[in-house]
Amino acid sequence: MSTRPTTTVIDGIAHLVTNDPSLGPSDDGPPLGVIRDAAVVIEGDRVVWTGASRNAPAADDRVDARGGALLPGFVDSHTHLVFAGDRTEEFSARMSGRPYTAGGIRTTVAATRAATEADLEANLVRHLREALRQGTTTVETKSGYGLTVEDEARSLRVAARHTSEVTYLGAHVVAPEHAGDPAAYVDLVTGEMLDACAPHARWIDVFCERGAFDGDQARAVLTAGRDRGLIPRVHANQLGHGPGVRLAVELGAASADHCTHLTDADVDALASSAGRTVATLLPGAEFSTRAPWPDARRLLDAGVTVALSTDCNPGSSYTSSMGFCVALAVRDMGMTPDEAVWAATAGGAAALRRADVGRITPGARADLLLLDAPSHVHLAYRPGVPLVAGVWRGGVREV
Ligand SMILES: [Zn+2]
Repeated sequence: MSTRPTTTVIDGIAHLVTNDPSLGPSDDGPPLGVIRDAAVVIEGDRVVWTGASRNAPAADDRVDARGGALLPGFVDSHTHLVFAGDRTEEFSARMSGRPYTAGGIRTTVAATRAATEADLEANLVRHLREALRQGTTTVETKSGYGLTVEDEARSLRVAARHTSEVTYLGAHVVAPEHAGDPAAYVDLVTGEMLDACAPHARWIDVFCERGAFDGDQARAVLTAGRDRGLIPRVHANQLGHGPGVRLAVELGAASADHCTHLTDADVDALASSAGRTVATLLPGAEFSTRAPWPDARRLLDAGVTVALSTDCNPGSSYTSSMGFCVALAVRDMGMTPDEAVWAATAGGAAALRRADVGRITPGARADLLLLDAPSHVHLAYRPGVPLVAGVWRGGVREV
């Protein structure tokens, strides 16, 4: 009798993206560590072997990849999935010419407060399943549509039942009942609300933007969270220039997210962090708000570590598709297909400071995405096409 977990060999992989730097760089880009004619062996929830198909060891089960490409599951390091309601009308109005501002968030706040906890959880689960079907195996998600002590804590409790990557974003916008006194709201976010929320979260975030929180307020929020053991990440420089990116680097944030409007000093700050602060680009937001694209090429050429994420939320970026974001990044942001796929997998893992995901190497979590396509390039080459042929999460085949 053996209690050894079941082993599975996946062979017939035309193109395996490992993101293992020890396998050497691709032609001229990030270290995708591609193995052709490859196989992967998983045991329990872990990868235990990768290599050439002809050398694959025997296993209990076998899956034939039929000449497809196998990638690490996508790591979506920036979403807002604890919400209720819908903002279809706002989207339609925007596509008719009305600009996006931070204020639309309050529409979702009202709907989220009015929802039951069961409804919030069902909506979260529905979106997580939607993302999983598209190859996303790790998801970060945030509060930020409650904006009261109880509503923020409730959002984080719900999120923490489904992911370990939970972010306290009480400082999303000033709560409507504090509109006349933002300082009092910052006191609440850094005081009683933080006390109620910190036990449920790993990260703290702030929307540092005109119309949301300025540099001093953002610093107060992030340092209060850091003092409680939460690690900072920042919504920075989305709608215009501002102090968010430099603040993120100064405070050792894991990521500065959006990075659409950057000065040379912002780019230099990110580069000088040497990967400690990842620039997380969220092209779904620019797509959905018809805004200028972030310049990924400028960041990559400066040596900045770049991640891609969906920013999935009902207002400014209602897509859960990492493949769509990869395609946008390649088409409009100056990224090569290799760079975009790395950013959507290993880049997201870096933004979440995770070494166990975003790669297919012995010891990593068996989070795998099988494409019905001969290489990862097809994610950008064939945009909008349902290429996902299989998804494993923690060694369990989910799709
Ligand atoms: Zn966001």
